[in-house]
Amino acid sequence: MSIVYVDGKWLPKEQAMVSVFDHGLLYGDGVFEGIRVYEGKIFRLRAHIERLFDSAKAIWLTIPISIDDMMGLHLEGVKRSGLPDAYIRTIVTRGVGDLGLDPRKCKDPTVIIIVDRIALWPEERYAQGLSVVTASTPTPHRESLSPRVKSLNYLPHILAKIEGIVANADEVIMLDAAGFVAEGSGTNLFVVRRGELYTPAVHSGILRGVTRDTVIELALAAKIPVHETTLNRFDVYTADEVFFTGSGAELIHARSVDGRVIGAGGAGKLTASLRETFRKLVRSA
Ligand code: PMP
Repeated sequence: MSIVYVDGKWLPKEQAMVSVFDHGLLYGDGVFEGIRVYEGKIFRLRAHIERLFDSAKAIWLTIPISIDDMMGLHLEGVKRSGLPDAYIRTIVTRGVGDLGLDPRKCKDPTVIIIVDRIALWPEERYAQGLSVVTASTPTPHRESLSPRVKSLNYLPHILAKIEGIVANADEVIMLDAAGFVAEGSGTNLFVVRRGELYTPAVHSGILRGVTRDTVIELALAAKIPVHETTLNRFDVYTADEVFFTGSGAELIHARSVDGRVIGAGGAGKLTASLRETFRKLVRSA
């Protein structure tokens, strides 16, 4: 069953509440994580928790628990939920304050850990691939709100997602403020060309996905060259394969982007083999 840790207690989801004065709600002032559990095991827990702490540090938010205790709470939550396959949403907000935005008024950060079921793309989507359009909403400028901070400010990504919905597409590609290819609405992006992988570099201003890092490791172990570089839409349109990565989506290919069919339209060879290796890894790790 779903279970939620909030204000130091584990509660059923119906009883898990936060104050309307929480600055996570009032200002999107906080950070979060999305983590997968496969067969009772949390995938790359430390990497997620370290990213959470880095996100918090970057926004001058001190998480009131150590990394090890935070990891312990996640393990406890999975045990308590009894869910073998689950999705964990971890949230740390600035906490309860007044109606002004001064973070110093918020004395105690709110720590929330939701252990719930996961809604995935249906299996046939992985065979068919996604229809994708480029959104006109760019990712935030990397020195405004760094996309490396997994913050509670998701409106740019939501606006991009809405563009995709209005266009009847499954997913969108977001460009950065300079017009380079950045990421999906909640995923990272890879392009395959002549057997080599290309993906936007972290410093260009993207979220450093845990799935992205895992795919890079798997590719390098299989002697597939990986280039972290800048990409234009031209590179995407003319790629042999394009796929997205994320904790929820795992690896899923784009069938078409802005009306251009990618490769032969199906899951390309590299995407298919990386996806299979990834799926084996998450169940063995
Ligand atoms: N980019 C964005 C904007 C995301 O929200 C996510 C999902 N957390 C990702 C990329 C993929 O990251 P991960 O592989 O760690 O889930």
